[in-house]
Amino acid sequence: MHGKVLVIDPIATNRIVLRVKLAASHYNMLQAGSIADAMQVLAQDTPDLILCAGTLPDGDPLRLLSRIRKMGLAGKMPIIALSCADSESERLRLLAGGIDDVLQKPINDALLLARTRSIIRAYATASEWTLREGTSRALGFGEEIATFSPAQTLRIVAEDRASAAPWITALSDRINARTVFAKPAAAVSEAEPGCTPDAFVLVIGPDEGPQMLQLLATIRSQANTRHCAILAVLDSEYATLGAQMLDMGANDLMRCTRSSEELALRLEALLSRKMVTDSLRDTVRSGIEAAVIDPLTGLHNRRYAMPHLSRIAERATRTGKPYAVMIADMDHFKRINDTLGHAAGDAVLVETARRLKENLRAVDLVARIGGEEFLIVLPGVGLGNARRAAKRLCQIIQNTPFEVPDRTAPVDATISIGMTVIDPVNGTHSTVAQKPEALLDRADKALYGAKAKGRNRVILSRPAA
Ligand code: GH3
Ligand code: MG
Ligand code: MG
Repeated sequence: MHGKVLVIDPIATNRIVLRVKLAASHYNMLQAGSIADAMQVLAQDTPDLILCAGTLPDGDPLRLLSRIRKMGLAGKMPIIALSCADSESERLRLLAGGIDDVLQKPINDALLLARTRSIIRAYATASEWTLREGTSRALGFGEEIATFSPAQTLRIVAEDRASAAPWITALSDRINARTVFAKPAAAVSEAEPGCTPDAFVLVIGPDEGPQMLQLLATIRSQANTRHCAILAVLDSEYATLGAQMLDMGANDLMRCTRSSEELALRLEALLSRKMVTDSLRDTVRSGIEAAVIDPLTGLHNRRYAMPHLSRIAERATRTGKPYAVMIADMDHFKRINDTLGHAAGDAVLVETARRLKENLRAVDLVARIGGEEFLIVLPGVGLGNARRAAKRLCQIIQNTPFEVPDRTAPVDATISIGMTVIDPVNGTHSTVAQKPEALLDRADKALYGAKAKGRNRVILSRPAA
């Protein structure tokens, strides 16, 4: 089944017609003749979409929506109203009240199915992010969702400025978003990072369908525009081209003969939905980051470092290239804490992390795996270069004293490094010896040797047999 659709219509034949159309596309159908009936269905079942007749014996789609809100199900399922009368005021009333779309009878089958697919997909995406955000929050990583509304931007795309101008003028009075014009060829190339619009409005004239479909595919495939909302304004071939656009990822459609008021209402709904999903996505992303980043130094933590080291080891085995694994530990760090305070100790740790990172390549891994212990992995580096790199790291810590808060004189600090180098060409290391724990163990033993020999030095572990 592709989803569950509840049809609410007082006329049995209308329900049957819709049931046949949608069941043929493998939707599971639920039915009700009134709002009261629908509430009974909703008490048992959760449809993915509600198709609701414009008038019902006990109310209208907005009354249904308010009952759904009272049940605490608002935002969980989209509602499309199927309206008989082509009444502008009625359509605006329903859209302004929160109905997701109003389709005019008689309804083209292809368009109905495409709209059904697109709206179910949009809600499923939103609820997927809600779920992940919930998981992230449960793990304790989430931040509050932003409630402010930063100014959003719209890009109106049309073949010539003249056909976009009336929409731009009308929207500027009605909607809190910056609206700019672009020709189709420049619509995406101008969407550089940092100035990606929140929504594209594609104004499609006769014969412009193929070009606009191409643009739609580009918007949906590029990383920076993939999450933008897209609304198509068209008239010729409304049903066939419209259905195609919805299936290719447009979020909404409107006839170009309709009012700018309707465009504004539809865009407001799209923009507010986008703001919520963007915010959920950011929360999940920052939750994932929080799980693998050490908040003090900004370096990756042990949770990230261990599987990453595994992958480096696997790749080295595959490619036959060497790699070096080091543990760097601050020398006599307890003394720094004891004499200067914990805050000074923290400042030394942050600066040490910065110096290590700055003096290694982007491909190298630097992670904080313990209080004052850092794991460093250099992929593709053999013994000689690894030793030189480790010595250089000791020097860049030793040579420049550390500024600490509330102290005029900077303090000295040093590190000791224990290192192991895996070189498939020179060595006979088994894959067991390349397990992350075994590698760390060997580097740790070497570190112990460095401490015993007086600190501020590099010791290499003796190769495993
Ligand atoms: P050694 O040269 O033998 O490594 O001496 P050490 O004093 O560095 O050794 P030890 O491992 O016993 O002590 C590490 C200290 O690091 C203990 C702990 O108080 C301190 N430390 C661990 N995490 C932090 C931190 O996040 N901030 C600060 N300021 N200190 C930390
Ligand atoms: Mg130490
Ligand atoms: Mg230590």
